[in-house]
Parts: sequence; structure tokens; C-alpha cells
Amino acid sequence: MDLGLSGKKAVVCAASKGLGRAVAVALAVEGVDLVINARSHETLEITAENIRAKTGVSVVPIAADITTEAGREAVLTACPDPDILVNNAGGPPPGDFRDVSREDWIRAFDANMLTPILLIRAVVDGMIDRRFGRIVNITTSGVKSPGTYPQLGVSIGVRSGLTGFMGVLSRQVARHNVTINALLPGRFETDRLRETIKFAAATVGRSVEEQTALAQNLIPAGRFGRPEEFGDFVAFLCSAQASYLTGQNIVLDGGAFPGLI
Ligand code: NAP
Repeated sequence: MDLGLSGKKAVVCAASKGLGRAVAVALAVEGVDLVINARSHETLEITAENIRAKTGVSVVPIAADITTEAGREAVLTACPDPDILVNNAGGPPPGDFRDVSREDWIRAFDANMLTPILLIRAVVDGMIDRRFGRIVNITTSGVKSPGTYPQLGVSIGVRSGLTGFMGVLSRQVARHNVTINALLPGRFETDRLRETIKFAAATVGRSVEEQTALAQNLIPAGRFGRPEEFGDFVAFLCSAQASYLTGQNIVLDGGAFPGLI
């Protein structure tokens, strides 16, 4: 299927590795020119070069912390008028909320709630004027099933705030062909997942291998997700065909969410 994205411009945040990189690759395969971002210059450059070599699109890497004002400004200067914005950043560390300071909470709000909102504020009116916009927020399946992740209360708490705000905003821009959706990853094979599993294993005194097998066993698909599966889904959410799909929080988790709706 031609997703109708050739020649469009996208900003993909936190995209040198993991889910963000997979999204960048999937959009590039569709002919989308990219501005990608991450903090570490070296990994980001390698990712940018690999995507250029594979797809031939323009890839501008901006090494910056997207959770800072300077970082967001650098990214928006490189692409002030994106057709597609994919919001992503590292998640807050796992742990017991009793150990989380006020400063840690504020850092988490900045990274996983306010940063996406501020980026959207900067680009949404241009999307409205051009009558095309696709915004995808990468959150977590924990927003729908918080009980599954007892160590990730901070992450789930602040991302739920983002989810609530997007529920309002998405309805205000829908008539201009600007969609806002969230994709809620379950467990995908990335560095972040490996860290989370290591933390859980250490907490309960299991080996990483045992913890991995246990985690996979809880997923009806019997395995972790592959980042490419996530990237391709985001590319579809950004497509011309997906113009009637907005304000949704879509779980991609191999069937792990236990509810019906
Ligand atoms: P990952 O493999 O660790 O990759 C994170 C990417 O984000 C890297 O490119 C990293 O590069 C970049 N990054 C992190 N903080 C950044 C910042 N402040 N500014 C700019 N770039 C930043 O993680 P992932 O698994 O892809 O996770 C992506 C998001 O999905 C996270 O928020 C995570 O909590 C969420 N999530 C993941 C899973 C999963 O199973 N993988 C499940 C639920 C939710 P630098 O370190 O160089 O900046």
C-alpha cells in the first residue's frame, strides 16, 4: 500500500535507538525526509547515515536533549514546519515512588508530558494551515494496564496526564486533517526493555534469563515485540489513509492487555 507520505517532512524525537529509530526507518522507507534527535551525537550520526544509505531520504540529525528548551528549539529550527511529529523520550527510571523526589517528578513531567505538549504547540497551527498533520505520541501500555508495571508508577502517572490532554486537543484539530494518536508499547526488544528486566530481576532475586522467560510467558504472542513492528504501525498512523483515526490510544503488546476494550 502506498501510504501517501513521499516528500513529507517528519520530526522524530529520541530516535537514535529502539522504538524511535524504528519509526524513523519506517517513515524513511515511505520517502519521508527526517529530522531525528537524541542526546548522544555518535549513535545518532550512525543511525542517520544508515537510514540515508538504506532509503536515500534527507536525514538531519540534531544531537540535543529534547526535554530542554534549547533541545526543542534546535530540533524546531531544523524543521519548523513538519507534516509529522513523533514524540518520544527516555522514560523515567523504575522504582518505588517513596524514593522519588519532587525534582524527579518534575523531570518526569518535563520529559514525558510537557515536552510533547510544547512541541505540538509549536507545530500544530502550521499543520492546520496546510491541512495535513500527523502527531504520534509514544507512551506505554501501562497507561491502560497500570497494575502490570508496579515499578513504573512515575512513568505511567505523567504519561496519563499527556494522554488526558491529547484527548482534548485531538478533537479540536481533527477537522483540519490533523490527527493525534498515541501508540502504547507493551514489551519491545530495546535497551530500555533490557534495563527494565534487569531491574525487575534484581528486585526479586531472579536471573535475567528467568525474568525474561517469565515476562515473555505473560504475553499471549509468547515473545517480545520487534521494534520494526512498532515502526511500521506508526508509519500507517501517519499515512494519508489514516485521516479518520484520531484521539486514540492504541496498545501494541502481543495481546498482553487483558481487557476487551
Ligand atoms: P531505548 O531503546 O532506550 O531508546 C531510547 C532513545 O531515546 C535513544 O535513542 C536515546 O538516545 C533517546 N533519548 C532518551 N532520552 C532522550 C532525551 N532526553 N532527548 C533526546 N533523546 C533521548 O528506549 P525505547 O525502548 O525505544 O523506549 C522509547 C520510549 O518508549 C521510552 O519512553 C520508553 O519508556 C517507552 N516504552 C518502551 C517500552 C519497550 O518495551 N521498549 C515499553 C513501554 C514504553 P540518547 O540516550 O543518546 O539520548
